[in-house]
Amino acid sequence: MNGLDARNRNEIISKITGSHYDLIVVGGGITGAGIALDAASRGLKTLLLEKKDFASGTSSKSTKLIHGGLRYLKQLEIGLVREVGLERAVVHKLAPHLVKSEKMLLPLTKDGTYGKILTSLGLRVYDFLADVEEEDRRKMLSKKETIALEPLLKGDDLEGGSIYAEYRTDDARLTIENVKTAYHNGADVLNYAEVLKLNYDANGVVEGLTFEDVLEGSSIQVSTRYVINAAGPWVDKVRSFDGKISGKKLYPTMGIHIVVPHSRLPLKQSVYFDEPEGRMLFAIPRDRATYIGTTDTAYDGNLDELRVSSKDVEYLVNGANSIFPNANLTIADVESTWVGLRPLIEEEGKSASEVSRKDEIFESESGLLSIAGGKLTGYRKMAERIVSKVAKKVQEEGRELRYSQTASIALTGGVFKDKSEVLSYEKKVAQKLEKYELSSWTTYLVSNYGKQSDEILKAMESRKEDDYEVKMVLSELFFCVANECVISLLDFLERRTGRLYFYMDTIEKVSPHVLTEMAKLFGWDDQRKQQEMGSLEQAIRRATDFI
Ligand code: FAD
Repeated sequence: MNGLDARNRNEIISKITGSHYDLIVVGGGITGAGIALDAASRGLKTLLLEKKDFASGTSSKSTKLIHGGLRYLKQLEIGLVREVGLERAVVHKLAPHLVKSEKMLLPLTKDGTYGKILTSLGLRVYDFLADVEEEDRRKMLSKKETIALEPLLKGDDLEGGSIYAEYRTDDARLTIENVKTAYHNGADVLNYAEVLKLNYDANGVVEGLTFEDVLEGSSIQVSTRYVINAAGPWVDKVRSFDGKISGKKLYPTMGIHIVVPHSRLPLKQSVYFDEPEGRMLFAIPRDRATYIGTTDTAYDGNLDELRVSSKDVEYLVNGANSIFPNANLTIADVESTWVGLRPLIEEEGKSASEVSRKDEIFESESGLLSIAGGKLTGYRKMAERIVSKVAKKVQEEGRELRYSQTASIALTGGVFKDKSEVLSYEKKVAQKLEKYELSSWTTYLVSNYGKQSDEILKAMESRKEDDYEVKMVLSELFFCVANECVISLLDFLERRTGRLYFYMDTIEKVSPHVLTEMAKLFGWDDQRKQQEMGSLEQAIRRATDFI
């Protein structure tokens, strides 16, 4: 089967136009991508439509943790903690290069959120709910042991700490690998395809929809038996296509993250800590950077125009300085930022951070199914639940379907037995990168692409560039264009590679090469090239200027 190559877009669109689907999924974030994979692998003829790029909404703006959510235990959301806690190990197994185990250090301070006894008990329950294996269970630490693990921690009010098991990932890559795996299981998928309206039969039941090919401006009708609305923060907008929304509404809350060079906050390990106002923040080292987040504030502005405020940036800088005072971070250290909206569901009388992260399914009279709430971590279970609803209806109509298969479908690039196989693969990749003096990029390459790194390394052998870093980037680009539906400079630099956030120092050097190569691959004229550069400059401003 061919890869997901955006240069075949016209063929893909003709195929979609002539098809009748069992299910169309609106929204190509992690929720929609997971649903498309679950549905296609059960045998449903499925189409996934995304109005911008895959993962361009919240699913590239999270803290990038596959976690049980210790915080939710405090709110007594036992069911949620158990489900997402168990899911961590499942998702890790599906892509061990991309969802990696990560120890989290929780320093205990005099006036901290969690006291010693509560932490010890809470983490024990957390491990129990998530069936964490013996050797990975939480350990309580003395002050000395805590500082040995993370010497940057402030010693004064430190009373000790605890270390417990979590997982980390890259949200945008997890989404694209789900999209690709859905495609390889038979789903049709299209980015830059905005659903504009639903079409109904004489009884007012949804029987199709109209979407716009955003690149050409043309409008296309498709027929389908069922539609699932997985539009994240835009869920209510899509629900309103039906007319007035009845029942619960969305309550989006905004969260930002800041990125500083690792040399300015050289953490040895991830830390989950109290900040002075009583909230808890994460500081997570990732290659040459460390990122810190997040905020959680109610948001009722324009969903398509999110901006980072200097007040929020200062809050995170001050929060980090309160626990790592010797770092003396300032706003000038912030290299990049991102901002996203949690698609949460309103609950009367609850503030942004108190609102439940549980997902819910809404069924409209027209038959439209919508899903909101939830977390990156629980995407597979969310998908299973909502597709089971559709599958039940299809089965009642007399068709045989498979049960959900996704717990055992490895994501593209993730066909490793376990993490030790990832480590030995990393060694082989490092040896190959050595000859280009690029072995420091090994973790980046393997975490992003897994076994697909072989294709990138192979492409490097035949490319002529003298500059090895450029050679590697252009080989990655070629792979992403041919397999990952990359259409714009930003699809590549922001979501497929994370360079806009974690390798900002390389953007100036690599972007002109990427632009020239994409112009060659797609036949862009000067005007399109200028537009692409304009969008990149705007994205850099968005990530680095605060209002
Ligand atoms: P989205 O990713 O927003 O996807 C919806 C998609 O629908 C968008 O791409 C949008 O463009 C598309 N769309 C909208 N309208 C249309 C239309 N008309 N036609 C076609 N497409 C349309 N969870 C965790 O598990 N771990 C974490 O560490 C974590 N940290 C977080 C930190 C922050 C700051 C935030 C904001 C969230 C965090 N979350 C975390 C939650 C998690 O990121 C979200 O629950 C998840 O990404 C939501 O995915 P989604 O697919 O539902 O929404």
